[in-house]
Amino acid sequence: MKLEQCPVDLRDYLIPVPTEGLNYHCLKCGVTALPDRLYYTCPACGGLLLLEDDRVDRFKEHSGEFWRRLFDYRRLLNKQPLRGIFTFYEFLIPLLDLTDIVYLGEGHTPLVAAPSCLMEVVGLNFFIKHDGQNPSASFKDRGMAAALSYLKYLRRTRGLTEVLAICASTGDTSAAAALYVAALGEGVKSAVLLPQGKVTLPQMGQSLGAGARVFELPGVFDDCMKVVEYLSERFEVALLNSKNPWRVLGQESYAFELAQEFDYELDDLVLMVPVGNAGNLTAILSGLLKLYRYGIIEYLPKVGAVQSEHADPVFCYYDQKIDPVYRPVTVRPSVAQAAMIGDPVSFPRVVKMVADYRRLAGEDHFFVVQVKEDDIMENMILANRSGLTVCTQGGETLAGLRAAMKLGLVSSSERAVVDSTAHALKFAEFQNAYFEGALIEGYGITTNPVLVNRPLALDLVGVSLPRSGETQNPADRAVYVAAAAEAIAKVLGLTPGRSV
Ligand SMILES: *Cc1c(COP(=O)(O)O)cnc(C)c1O
Ligand SMILES: [Zn+2]
Repeated sequence: MKLEQCPVDLRDYLIPVPTEGLNYHCLKCGVTALPDRLYYTCPACGGLLLLEDDRVDRFKEHSGEFWRRLFDYRRLLNKQPLRGIFTFYEFLIPLLDLTDIVYLGEGHTPLVAAPSCLMEVVGLNFFIKHDGQNPSASFKDRGMAAALSYLKYLRRTRGLTEVLAICASTGDTSAAAALYVAALGEGVKSAVLLPQGKVTLPQMGQSLGAGARVFELPGVFDDCMKVVEYLSERFEVALLNSKNPWRVLGQESYAFELAQEFDYELDDLVLMVPVGNAGNLTAILSGLLKLYRYGIIEYLPKVGAVQSEHADPVFCYYDQKIDPVYRPVTVRPSVAQAAMIGDPVSFPRVVKMVADYRRLAGEDHFFVVQVKEDDIMENMILANRSGLTVCTQGGETLAGLRAAMKLGLVSSSERAVVDSTAHALKFAEFQNAYFEGALIEGYGITTNPVLVNRPLALDLVGVSLPRSGETQNPADRAVYVAAAAEAIAKVLGLTPGRSV
């Protein structure tokens, strides 16, 4: 749609004008700082930061109805940098010039109603939000688009040059960081630290392919995170882990999009989210609270966090009913490898957000469930056999929804949204290992024979076969083709006759 075709009262607002007001706020000591340089921890006390817009009246100047219409028309507007997560510009980084925005096609991922066969098995109406259909095939692109747009802004306004962007990753943050840094070109390079043997082959290929410098370190993600923190305290680097509060802003767009996709009516909805470093959970809660505070949504949905029993510090915290104490856990191998984190960096943010959220929405509107490794794999395969493309973390989230129903935290009259955080292809090696029964050690997963699918063997004894990648002479080929077809028909139990 063209600007001239939009309602007159919105035209002055649809192309936003940069404004000040967004500031760093320390969660620990309350200090605020201007956004004129990149902080990832409080310059005064080292605490975690959030970015908050201090000009609240700017939002309150307009009704919820105004904002809903603005975002809906902006969604229709053919204006490139405002197509993706920056449709919600005012709620993201309103100090950016439109030329600062890095847009690679992230956001507005498909929200798909689960096929009815799958809904029957699960026992309620639910949707999958395919966040694996982002540019680097995970939701991490939302945060990275925001963080790199901010770096681009710093490059323009502060003359930043020779920036080294660095992160520790379980595979997806690194893929997103490498991609968005590559898009910035001149003056910015990326380096990523990965736990050796704990990222999948496609994930490794993504960072290498985008030109990042890749380091594999022995140990687990939490070790890589410590090394990156050491580097960021002593050297001039730009940290892109979710400690970086700009990423949280970008990831809030998940909540904004969902609100838009449900016509801003979220009252009987349950959003299920997998939790690793807890950046995504923080962002989703924060985004929902913003929508509620400014009257854009009238009801807050339930939010259910999901963790594997092999990496469950957030579950363990909220499972203690009185005076909970936070303790990092020692992780064990998990097929939900992108969430295999024992000491989540964003935990203090979660505690604050959950307290605010429960106060406004009700105690029962936030819960955490724990799932077994077996259930993660079984639900991933179940989903993928129902026409979806769900990664192991998506399987974890679906398993979490079913666990929450069993516990009575969600009822069959509600509707749910399962966050499929990455594309199935990134994690296909877990599915293959499952089929081969190779996940017993460490993961403790026993393969359910009913779900196994392997390539089928053909009996072609006595037939002259082509060598792999080569073709035969026409006579041998005809014999081979007929024998192969007959053998396949036998395995499939086909009846002679004509094709349908
Ligand atoms: C990073 C990641 C998670 C965990 O998200 P956090 O923000 O670290 O809690 C879950 N799923 C996938 C696919 C991820 O890449
Ligand atoms: Zn502080």
